[in-house]
Amino acid sequence: MNGILYLVATPIGNLGDITHRAIEVLKSVDFILAEDTRTSLRVLKHYDIHTPFFSSVYQGAERQRILSILSLLGDGKHLALVSDAGTPLVSDPGFPLVRAAVDAGQPVVPVPGPCAAIAGLTASGLPLDRFSFEGALPRGRGARQSLFTSLESREETCVFYESSHRILDSLQLLVEVLPTRRLVLARELTKVHEEFLRGTASELHTCLAEKDRVRGEFVLIVGGAETPVTADQEAVHRMLEELKAENLPNKSIVRILVNGLGIPRNEAYRIVHQKDDGERNEPS
Ligand code: SAM
Repeated sequence: MNGILYLVATPIGNLGDITHRAIEVLKSVDFILAEDTRTSLRVLKHYDIHTPFFSSVYQGAERQRILSILSLLGDGKHLALVSDAGTPLVSDPGFPLVRAAVDAGQPVVPVPGPCAAIAGLTASGLPLDRFSFEGALPRGRGARQSLFTSLESREETCVFYESSHRILDSLQLLVEVLPTRRLVLARELTKVHEEFLRGTASELHTCLAEKDRVRGEFVLIVGGAETPVTADQEAVHRMLEELKAENLPNKSIVRILVNGLGIPRNEAYRIVHQKDDGERNEPS
């Protein structure tokens, strides 16, 4: 019988944020695989869980452990992977192991729970119908600047993890690159000093800069582009003619206009369908 690899979400601050099922699974498995055993011990002690650790799967050590972990699963042992906080694999170790288990045909079962990105998004007041999770912002200033610049025509809400050391600098970059966007900083989620700061980059920068020291963990949420990007009408018309001549379906043409020319989706849809209506109404 194959063992099961459970992916168990644990609290991102408030120890109460753990599901009954997560506790049951952590108590019942043969071993817990932790990112850092010392960090996970705090949660395990709190819930009187005495399951032994197998090993740490911190980034770097993970690949060396995969074969022995697969062999445990092959022997029918049930394992639970936990990270230091929140959902494993979300900006945390675990992906190579899960990929290897899936490829080896071993059952992998999620035990969902807290995730800082989702917690921040849900209370942000920004649209969630479409969002993009971008993980941790790069350390380098140039890379962060290019990343923010690439958001200029993006309409969906974008979510980033950022450290307290760089958050002021990232906000300064946003003042320069995306000065009018609605931003939300979700700080210390689920903890005593939880706070949401909402405003433009310059408003948030001023607010944080006033503090003696910038402390805590941050989720940075950038609202999507609200004003349509004005694409060159000539270029749009030419591209539309060429795509229509190739008999591409309207859905594909809309996608190409959005991705190729940075036209907002609803605008691209309108242009494509307006052209169809115009052609239908032309006298034969
Ligand atoms: N796996 C975690 C999850 O599900 O959210 C994310 C782990 S990632 C290594 C750590 C980053 O997540 C932090 O640097 C911070 O940006 C964000 N984060 C984690 N806990 C947070 C909290 N309580 N409040 C705000 N941000 C948090």
